[in-house]
Amino acid sequence: MKKRILSGMRPTGRLHLGHYFGVLQNWVALQEDYDCFFMVADWHALTSEWKNAGAITANIRENAADWIAAGVDPEKSTVFVQSAVPEHAELALVLSCITPLGWLERVPTYKEAQQQLAEKGVDNYAFLGYPVLQAADILLYKGNVVPVGEDQLPHLELTREIVRRFHSTFACELFPEPAAKLTPTPRLMGLDGRRMSKSFGNTIDLSEELPSAEKKVKAMFTDPNRKKRSDPGNPQICNVFSFHGMLNSKERHAKIETDCRTAQIGCVECKAELAGRMLDWLRPIQERRAELLAEPGKLDRILEAGTARARQVAAQTMKEVREAVFKSR
Ligand code: SF4
Repeated sequence: MKKRILSGMRPTGRLHLGHYFGVLQNWVALQEDYDCFFMVADWHALTSEWKNAGAITANIRENAADWIAAGVDPEKSTVFVQSAVPEHAELALVLSCITPLGWLERVPTYKEAQQQLAEKGVDNYAFLGYPVLQAADILLYKGNVVPVGEDQLPHLELTREIVRRFHSTFACELFPEPAAKLTPTPRLMGLDGRRMSKSFGNTIDLSEELPSAEKKVKAMFTDPNRKKRSDPGNPQICNVFSFHGMLNSKERHAKIETDCRTAQIGCVECKAELAGRMLDWLRPIQERRAELLAEPGKLDRILEAGTARARQVAAQTMKEVREAVFKSR
């Protein structure tokens, strides 16, 4: 039997290249070897976006369409919406009873995120309890493995601590202690060299109009020391070069490096090539997206089927949780 994976994404905006190379690419690979549950984490989004909750709803379908267009296959993976499975909230409540406040206050990313998102009003109870909801997400499906980047390891360790406390408190062995699957998350910087983020306005979205994507690539900064075409460049400090690494073959990437260092290629030409690669890469994703959305109700049916499957598993787990906690059904 395949091991089970639970992973999710907060529907807080349009998905961009950073989401693809940081998360979606891994999901597409993982679904071949694991029983994957991929969740549109709208309740997680609500913990910080509660002032603008309507936008979350609009993003749910947009994000799910991008996932499928990018290669997540609903025939292989269970794709569902978190809030359509109320057992997430129920299990989170049970787990919150056995989770000491100190464990949550110690999560290294909490204080930092609270400062970064201060204007959103994240001094709320739900934002502090975010890792408990995350634990509920994983445990509801008895996930064996969770794909994480290094920065999320403390969150997963907290889930493992909650599992141990649940078992010792209620004298049972209900959940596997989920293991981390460290996934390669290549750092794709935004068009301006900062972290790619909607809030910096430096993204290329998966659904970006192609002429707009082309224009953005052609306006990217390059090695600032390369003043003339005949100056040798340093690709290691050029973001265009990193993008080539994501979209081109290893051989072509290596050749661009050599040609840049020896001034065999100019920046205008180099960016034009990247723009061409970018459009060739985006086009099939956007065609699959258009095809999916052109058939009325298809995406909704996919989400409904995924949610029904998720609910079946979640309902069984909650039955076992109630038996363990209350010694009754
Ligand atoms: S030639 Fe390409 S890699 Fe080199 S500095 Fe110009 S844009 Fe960057």
